[in-house]
Amino acid sequence: MPLRVCSNPHFYHLMKRKLLTMALTLSAFATAAEAIADDFKYTDERFADIQMLRYKVEGFERLTLRQKTFIYHLSEAALAGRDIFFDQNGRYNLRIRHMLETVYTDYRGDRNGKDFAALATYLKRVWFSGGIHHHYGCEKFHPDFSEAWLRKTLADLNYTLDEEIYPVIFDPAVMPMRVNQRDGDDLILTSACNYYAPGITQAEAEDFYTRRKAPGDPRPVMTGLNSRLVRGRFGFLEENVWRVGGLYGSAIERIVEHLEAAIPFADREEQKAVIRKLVEYYRTGDLRTFDHYSILWLKDTESLIDFVNGFTESYGDPLGLKASWESIVNFKDLAATERTLKLSENAQWFEDNSPVDSIFKKPEVKGISAKVITAAILAGDLYPATAIGINLPNSDWVRRDFGSKSVTIANLTSAYAKAAHGSGMDEEFVIDDDTRKLIADYGDICDDLHTDLHECLGHGSGRLLPETDPDSLRSYGSTIEEARADLFALYYLADPKLVELGLTPNLEAHKASYYTYLQNGALTQLVRIKPGADIEEAHMRNRALIARWVLEQAKSKKTSQPAAELVTQAGKTYVRINDYAELRYLFGTLLREIQRIKSEGDYAAARSLVEDYAVKIDADLHREILERYRRLDLSPYKGFINPVYHARRDAQGNIVDVSITYGEAFDAQNLRYSRDYHFLPLIND
Ligand code: ZN
Repeated sequence: MPLRVCSNPHFYHLMKRKLLTMALTLSAFATAAEAIADDFKYTDERFADIQMLRYKVEGFERLTLRQKTFIYHLSEAALAGRDIFFDQNGRYNLRIRHMLETVYTDYRGDRNGKDFAALATYLKRVWFSGGIHHHYGCEKFHPDFSEAWLRKTLADLNYTLDEEIYPVIFDPAVMPMRVNQRDGDDLILTSACNYYAPGITQAEAEDFYTRRKAPGDPRPVMTGLNSRLVRGRFGFLEENVWRVGGLYGSAIERIVEHLEAAIPFADREEQKAVIRKLVEYYRTGDLRTFDHYSILWLKDTESLIDFVNGFTESYGDPLGLKASWESIVNFKDLAATERTLKLSENAQWFEDNSPVDSIFKKPEVKGISAKVITAAILAGDLYPATAIGINLPNSDWVRRDFGSKSVTIANLTSAYAKAAHGSGMDEEFVIDDDTRKLIADYGDICDDLHTDLHECLGHGSGRLLPETDPDSLRSYGSTIEEARADLFALYYLADPKLVELGLTPNLEAHKASYYTYLQNGALTQLVRIKPGADIEEAHMRNRALIARWVLEQAKSKKTSQPAAELVTQAGKTYVRINDYAELRYLFGTLLREIQRIKSEGDYAAARSLVEDYAVKIDADLHREILERYRRLDLSPYKGFINPVYHARRDAQGNIVDVSITYGEAFDAQNLRYSRDYHFLPLIND
């Protein structure tokens, strides 16, 4: 199944990229907000492997009251789904979060001691990841406070935590991975995510969904997307659907309430129809209705303000069927949208001229709309770690028949770039001054363009053969899909067409991207992985696959100098590129093969490419990269604190003004969310 929300394709630039009661924390924020209004800071606190950033909602003050009010209601609908995401990530997450927050606010012991500090860090990681597993690597966090300390602390607070939860927190063998993708394991039984009830095996789940497929249906719904698979009373499997009146109903009702409040403020009738259809889907859980909603949504390209709100991406399910809940509200950055318009207007040219076999090309590229947006709020699976580009919907037949909508989120990419300025990564990992200059001159332009090409052309390109089942690549599907989109972008970054369209300044610019892509895929992205672990996440696997495949191919050519290679200087490994044109040829060659795999549904080829190139890490190289990185003292992961929207109402309750403040701390924000948007029971069985 294709998966399309992409984190920064260039992690490299992503780099570049006490006794406080809740009330006290919140009032402290109010004064801090005033101070920061003048002097906006892109970077905020650090904890564990995380640095918090802030993004600015550029242009909000220029919107009309009606538009601001629309955004306000949509942002409330976004925040209302928060608990759903926590529960999807693990069946104990809401209980653990509640317990930790209680200790965090009410602890009467030494708030400067190391145990409390360890609890605070652990809680921040839980807030950041939507649960007890790492948001990216999927491994369980190990707290630096002891079980004995927690038991005593909870006893002092008269707080009873279910006994079954202690090993979930403290025993490394219990629920070790949120999503396990290891070839040969039972991926359902060994994954802690909450999409399948305990005890259901992978074979049972696959059998259940294979039977539900309607063979030959040209417009199949995305079966399994919006439900948990459970064992019914008589032992048979059945779906517990996420909808009003169903599982997660109490939170979905609140989402619906805010969506309905937003309807009168939409600028256009078309957009009102989109929201009504989404509400209908939330009420019925009918996946056919979801497809209808997706079509209305993707056709609405004229509205200034837009949003995603729903069960969207399936990275969190080892089978790639069930979608995590997320929301983003945004509005168009009109000037920057000109850039992506040039790409989408020429979509057919790019399709026709790609190195892909013509039988796998789209004869007629439909409805790829692309725009650059300003994010106004992030929620669910997009908060605080977020995508910088989105391409939706995910349904293959909807994309085939109606196209897709693609966005680049400019205020987030620019926040990454500002935060990364001067991090020292270039000095440490780029091979020489000439290459560093290339990156300084063209890195940011190329990164934005890479995201545009990846999202608005790459994912939208190509077609499946009519007989190919869209799910045939199974657990390798998302890595292959991301590789396809990245390769499409890499191939075209070097094309004279981009200069002709005025998107790149010259035929040198792409070199910055080529260098950073290989460096990231082969070397620097490894800083996000613990020693001894494999690469698990689909985007990381994709980057490793491309970089290592290209390096190996370059080496095997019988020329005096490979197009690209890893070299060692003074004990440090670097990427060196000797022939950029040949490198482009290799990207094109791999794109051709990856498209064939996708179009034919060649599972065996997908599996061997991913397993051979994208999973294992050379231990010595890994150690070296981690050590060089450690000396830079940077955080490998970033996420965003949301702005706070303040609606002022008149005596009748009508909103008369909406304003934004930015100063809220990460802990204060999450405590406020837990207080104001806690709409699910702690146990959702
Ligand atoms: Zn993607």
